[in-house]
Amino acid sequence: MQGTRSEIPRPRLISVVVPCFNEEEVLSQTLLELEAFAASLTDYEAEFIFVDDGSQDGTFAILQEAARKNASYRVLSFARNFGHQIAVTAGIDAASGAAVALIDADLQDPPEVLTEMIHHWEAGVDVVYAVRASRDGESAFKISTARWFYRLLNKLSETPIPLDTGDFRLMDRKVVDVLKQMPERHRFVRGLVAWVGYRQMALPYHRKKRAAGVSKYPLRKMLRFATDGILSFSSKPLQIATNMGLFAAFLALIGIIYAIVLRVMTNTWVEGWTALMIAVLFLGGVQLISLGIIGEYIGRIYEESKHRPLYIVRDRIGFDANTSPVSSEKSIHEVS
Ligand code: UDP
Ligand code: MG
Repeated sequence: MQGTRSEIPRPRLISVVVPCFNEEEVLSQTLLELEAFAASLTDYEAEFIFVDDGSQDGTFAILQEAARKNASYRVLSFARNFGHQIAVTAGIDAASGAAVALIDADLQDPPEVLTEMIHHWEAGVDVVYAVRASRDGESAFKISTARWFYRLLNKLSETPIPLDTGDFRLMDRKVVDVLKQMPERHRFVRGLVAWVGYRQMALPYHRKKRAAGVSKYPLRKMLRFATDGILSFSSKPLQIATNMGLFAAFLALIGIIYAIVLRVMTNTWVEGWTALMIAVLFLGGVQLISLGIIGEYIGRIYEESKHRPLYIVRDRIGFDANTSPVSSEKSIHEVS
């Protein structure tokens, strides 16, 4: 059939990117499952790119030892914790496969789903993203906030971003090559992939509970991540600030008319401290919120304009000496 992957001559290599932050409890189990997945591949070879995102525990030692024994393992170790989305980005930059998969280190995303993703990719789909049809072992708070977040994001975003989707996905090389040209630092990878386009499809799966260890996404990181998602894909918050200002002005107008009518009809003035305080605080609130929203965008412009490297790699294991694990633009700054 015209256009199917099997006709395209390129290395039959699938890269699997695994971001790891303090995952020593779960890693040995994950490595076993990933090996079982690699062994199940008949037509492809797999390379695994583990990105140690500045772990403080034994994660790096485990990966280092595993990479010594397994030629398909590559390890990038960051100089400090740069965050999940940056870790995923570094893995994508370093991947050399015809298709690149992203998977969490905690086995919440079952590696066997990758096999199904590969089938769809072979049939010509460029991005197969996994959608959480059901999920185990996560708090009602996390599930409901995530649900609301994705719906809000879609209302605000100019790019439609699939609902209930994480980073678990398989992407064709051409999508990866476009992603590598997107240097923004407040990265919301699932949104960036949606923005790229091409042929994308959703694959429903059951998200398991973490096999071991605890979540590395405390509330603070989750909020940052959600803000990045919204601010990177929408300028509507700025319109909301304008609308709040218009609403405050409208209320002021009603107040003025009310005061004049009262004066003309009853020859009295609106009394008091309460009305004044409410007006002052309301206006102060609207102004500060609007400034805050503007500030968030300006802060991002400032950070982008500094052109710092996205990440700093401390150790690199299992890569060819002459293949750089980071895109050329970033490798200028890289410390290795
Ligand atoms: N992770 C990372 N850097 C961070 C936080 C998380 O690389 O700063 C990795 C983590 O090791 C895991 C994935 O990102 O492989 C998802 O994190 P986690 O499972 O803790 O998030 P949750 O599933 O609870 O949302
Ligand atoms: Mg998890």
